[in-house]
Amino acid sequence: MIYDVIVVGGGIAGLMAAIEAKSDTSLRVAIVTKGNLFKSNSSLASGGINSVLDKNDKEGILKHINDTLKGSYGLADKKAVTYMCEQAPFIIEKLSDYGVEFDKNEDGTIAQRSFGGGSSKRTCYVGDKTGSAITQALIKKAKIVGVEFLVNNFVMNITKMNNKVSGIVVIRRFDSSVMVYPAKSVVLAGGGYAGLYRGFSTNAQDYTGDILSVALRAGLALKDMEFVQFHPTGFIKTSYLVSEAARGEGGYLVNSEGERFINELETRDVVSQAISKQIAEGKKVFIDLRHLTPEHIESKLPSLQKAALMQAGVDVTIELLPIKPVAHYTMGGIEANMTKTAIKGLFVCGECAVNGIHGANRLGGNSLLDGAVFGELAGKNALKYSKNKEFLPIDYNIVVKDQQKVDFIFDQDTTKNFNSMRISVGKTMFELAGIHRDKKSLFKALDYLQYLRRESGTLHCIDKGRNNNVELISILELQNALEIAQTVVLSARKRKESRGAHHRDDYTQVNNEYKHSILINELKKGFYKVWLQKNNLLGYLRRAIANNN
Ligand SMILES: Cc1cc2nc3c(=O)[nH]c(=O)nc-3n(C[C@H](O)[C@H](O)[C@H](O)COP(=O)(O)OP(=O)(O)OC[C@H]3O[C@@H](n4cnc5c(N)ncnc54)[C@H](O)[C@@H]3O)c2cc1C
Repeated sequence: MIYDVIVVGGGIAGLMAAIEAKSDTSLRVAIVTKGNLFKSNSSLASGGINSVLDKNDKEGILKHINDTLKGSYGLADKKAVTYMCEQAPFIIEKLSDYGVEFDKNEDGTIAQRSFGGGSSKRTCYVGDKTGSAITQALIKKAKIVGVEFLVNNFVMNITKMNNKVSGIVVIRRFDSSVMVYPAKSVVLAGGGYAGLYRGFSTNAQDYTGDILSVALRAGLALKDMEFVQFHPTGFIKTSYLVSEAARGEGGYLVNSEGERFINELETRDVVSQAISKQIAEGKKVFIDLRHLTPEHIESKLPSLQKAALMQAGVDVTIELLPIKPVAHYTMGGIEANMTKTAIKGLFVCGECAVNGIHGANRLGGNSLLDGAVFGELAGKNALKYSKNKEFLPIDYNIVVKDQQKVDFIFDQDTTKNFNSMRISVGKTMFELAGIHRDKKSLFKALDYLQYLRRESGTLHCIDKGRNNNVELISILELQNALEIAQTVVLSARKRKESRGAHHRDDYTQVNNEYKHSILINELKKGFYKVWLQKNNLLGYLRRAIANNN
């Protein structure tokens, strides 16, 4: 099968991109997902999506721009942030047209709640199931306009010819065959890598940055990888997210002495570090909703109320809910300039991309917006690029290598356990490259990750069946995860300061020598180049190549 536009990822960014690309009905557009279509971080998003609702409210939009820039600690791109905040009212209108029923005020206008780091109430929501409501409406819309869905296809690599994209290589999970889908343009919308912190993350365990490693192998640079956002409030045992909506609706944070110790609506990095300090002092931390009426909790936070009861045995209307900070969102990703990359015909959007919005820290509610706005733009760019282009030849060297990799995993026997390795990656990342890091912990982390990466290359399936082989995909995901974990640690080691979500115990202050992004690419397997992006000739050339795309 061949497509004019292939979109990898069925979250908010991928769906918006595909719908937009399909606005030219003559184009064949497909979305590829590695699992079920409804399984994405987008569908888990609970609290809401930020937007000023009146497109003529210049002052409100300026505040949104300024809050986002402030939240980024100097590392956002003002042009991209301005574009996003100005597009936001149009996006909310579009989502409403596609069938998203945002909660309303009594007068029928869209209701908005407060979110951390926001200087005004601008988060639109559907109870505490905003992401699920949005993805369901977008899936419906994509089906209506004729987007095709290639679910359960695990993307291994992209192929290119003379620096122009020519298709993707996937494993069809149904029978483990390696397949190629030629395409004139490809949009990568494969989500983030917070799942690397397995056991300490709100993300599913398979959100470990597959698509970032695809980009690395294609020769692209990753950017801002050290910035991993810890959400202040996850359940102690299951890491289930207590959405910021809980604090936005008036919830308090209290310690075991019953004291409130932080302004609950500070940005996530500030609140997470304050909680981590309390925990280090031997105190427990709770979210306290007891002063809200049961009706208010039931109508605004129904999922949280249910999950607290089912997973933690806590009735939040009368009891305190114990919490801990958990890895939640990753600001780093594939370097891009307004969705364009250095490979022609290859566009990126959503959490896997760095379009210059979040810098060192993301504001709650800005991620769904980023995904929707830049997803739409990526779709437009892919459509424009694909028009009047011919299909390019596939580089079969890549396909053969991928086939050999799969055969190798099937062919031999092993006594090694990939699952225990996955758990070790999570623990290592949390303990040595988590909310707090320093030179010693990062060296230790790197050492261990290098060892695990070597070991992961010797893993084989115990189950040799080719139909829906979960082990095969888990091994490939683990190999990708280790490639990406190393980029996080190396970038964290390079940034000798504390900024936003990156806190170094050995360099506790902001140092303006580092008021630049860090870029990393992999020269050959296991050998990385890491550098500070300054506005030098190289930076200028990279932007020029992307702009020319
Ligand atoms: C619990 C939770 C609550 C959140 N709440 C909010 C909120 O209230 N507001 C907000 O703004 N943000 C929130 N976020 C963050 C936000 O949901 C995500 O950042 C955003 O949805 C990412 O969207 P995306 O389209 O980039 O990727 P995702 O929605 O993560 O989708 C990734 C897609 O890529 C596909 N994929 C990945 N790897 C491969 C591969 N190898 N082959 C094929 N396909 C692949 C997956 O199958 C999936 O379809 C929350 C996140 C979580 C986890």
